[in-house]
Amino acid sequence: MSEMRSPHAALRNSETAGRVMKNAEQVTFGGSGLNRAGHIRGDDAALAQAQAHPDAACVLLWRGKPLVNGGRDQLGLVRMNHPILKAGYPGNVDRPVLLGLEDDGAPVFAHDISGWEPEGLDAAALGQFVDPSEQQHPSLPPDHAFAELRRLMTRLSPRDAELAATARAVIGWHHTHRFCAQCGAESEITQGGWQRTCPACGAHHFPRTDPVVIMLITHGDSVLMGRSPGWPQGMFSLLAGFVEPGETLEAAVRREVFEEAGIKVGQVGYLASQPWPFPASLMFGCSGEALSREITIDPVEIEEAIWVTRADMMAAFAGDHPFIKPARRGAIAHFLLQNWLADTLD
Ligand SMILES: [Zn+2]
Repeated sequence: MSEMRSPHAALRNSETAGRVMKNAEQVTFGGSGLNRAGHIRGDDAALAQAQAHPDAACVLLWRGKPLVNGGRDQLGLVRMNHPILKAGYPGNVDRPVLLGLEDDGAPVFAHDISGWEPEGLDAAALGQFVDPSEQQHPSLPPDHAFAELRRLMTRLSPRDAELAATARAVIGWHHTHRFCAQCGAESEITQGGWQRTCPACGAHHFPRTDPVVIMLITHGDSVLMGRSPGWPQGMFSLLAGFVEPGETLEAAVRREVFEEAGIKVGQVGYLASQPWPFPASLMFGCSGEALSREITIDPVEIEEAIWVTRADMMAAFAGDHPFIKPARRGAIAHFLLQNWLADTLD
């Protein structure tokens, strides 16, 4: 932990979180122990009080991109009385979401202004895998901008990363779940943004989190890596796939590895999890022991799968491997591989 200034600082950080941090929770979006204040969500008077709190702050989101400061390393929070929150752009999620309470009791909300149409918008940039464009709103500080969370995630503090991931996932869910899945009527935001309730049939709908297994499959000194069709050259990652209804994590790991690479997996274990709000996944990092080495890929799912030795993976992380590029920082695959190399999986 090179960023810890002293053992005392490390102790204070884990005490603030009110629990013992496992190494596994140091992953990007691993959480900061935010008090999510579930008791306020259903209490209209307490919610109104939280919104009117003099220190209440708000994470602003535009089309999934959080507002960040000039240094692009902190969220650019605004006050709850900022005029931008009243602009009412058509297409906004029209109510704030209560994210929780800061350690000093100040409420934090998320507010969406996706209906705003910036001048000279570069639509091609928005469609890219990692959108390089930034948008500046005339009524916000001139050095602040809306920027793609994938570009920022490793620079944010654990608290800002948790706020941004939560805001992006919940606001994104509201955008894609406006209508009741039971009767088709337009539903309403309730519970401080943590539910939608249908005024026609009374059904309640809850934000989705889609479980994905991502697995460190090893055989002796090697780890199984794959690449999907269309990935940049040299990019390999751990195999991953959605958990299906009726399936355990262990079964999903074994099924995905056999489907994609034709390899049977024996013992499976859980390593770490990561909320991944692109748009609504929860990644379950698992380990698995391969029972054989022979690879038979499913060419529809993956383009190539290979066994990579520890030495080759170290070279890839150092940028010295002839064809394997290092995994992307911030993603759980990078975190698991790094801990596998350092022998610090716990
Ligand atoms: Zn309904």
